[in-house]
Amino acid sequence: MPSGATTESERVPVGVDPTRASIARVYDAFLNGKDNYEIDREVFRSVQKKAPEAQDLATENRGFLIRACRFLASQSGVMQYLDLGSGLPTAENTHQVVQRITPEAKVVYVDNDPVVLAHGRALLEENENTHFVSADIFKPQEILNNEQIRQHLDFTQPIALLQMGTLHHYVGPKEDPAAIMREYVAALPSGSYVGMSHFLDPENEHSAVARKMEEVFVHSPMGSGSFRTHAELLELLPGVELVEPGLVICADWWPDGPRLKPLNQVQHCIAGGVGRKP
Ligand code: SAM
Repeated sequence: MPSGATTESERVPVGVDPTRASIARVYDAFLNGKDNYEIDREVFRSVQKKAPEAQDLATENRGFLIRACRFLASQSGVMQYLDLGSGLPTAENTHQVVQRITPEAKVVYVDNDPVVLAHGRALLEENENTHFVSADIFKPQEILNNEQIRQHLDFTQPIALLQMGTLHHYVGPKEDPAAIMREYVAALPSGSYVGMSHFLDPENEHSAVARKMEEVFVHSPMGSGSFRTHAELLELLPGVELVEPGLVICADWWPDGPRLKPLNQVQHCIAGGVGRKP
């Protein structure tokens, strides 16, 4: 190693445990990012052993997030976004997609990962309409009463609440992510939107691969990643009217163009939807 070069452990920010995989860093590894450690890449490789196309869990999710944001910005008229579980900054973050279409739209990101915090503050707070808040997204009352969030978002005006690629990592006392979403949706004014994506057990010939990936995620140093059924995912969009085409695999939610290749198994294992609160 040349003198002056740093090892991975020397670069680890204070408060970060490199012996534990983090959801944000594992996701970054799935997306070919650089902000991950060996332990995170190990989770990725273990899932890949069970499902060679495992990376598509992340790329399909991210593609859906981008298309949903583009739709919301161009069609919904909503000017405020609450992005729960921002992830590490990557290409085409929510504020970039949304503010390209509606530059005045406000975007508040929330995450609780220290590495996301370090990078997020620097890279996501690019302008006066974009803010980053550190909080627990699985505690809706804390988020809804968070002073910083209230300072930036007006809860009397429609809000687009994004819960993308997050709820499958919720391991709560009752494992009831639907209760979390009911609390969030109840607090949103009429005309608000909810975007949600989640690992799917497709309950068909692709179920086996979903179960295998779940087994690896849950027993990995990251410790979470539940594949729920379509009916269970519908419960995560309570009190909203789904916009076309409803809750579907991400690949089928307004794809960018015609499909020439058949979908692989993994592409059947992540779903998303967008709904409007009447
Ligand atoms: N939403 C982004 C996307 O769809 O591309 C990132 C998804 S990433 C898989 C999940 C993110 O949720 C991670 O950045 C993780 O740190 C964050 N997260 C997980 N549990 C959280 C919690 N309890 N509070 C706040 N953020 C959390």
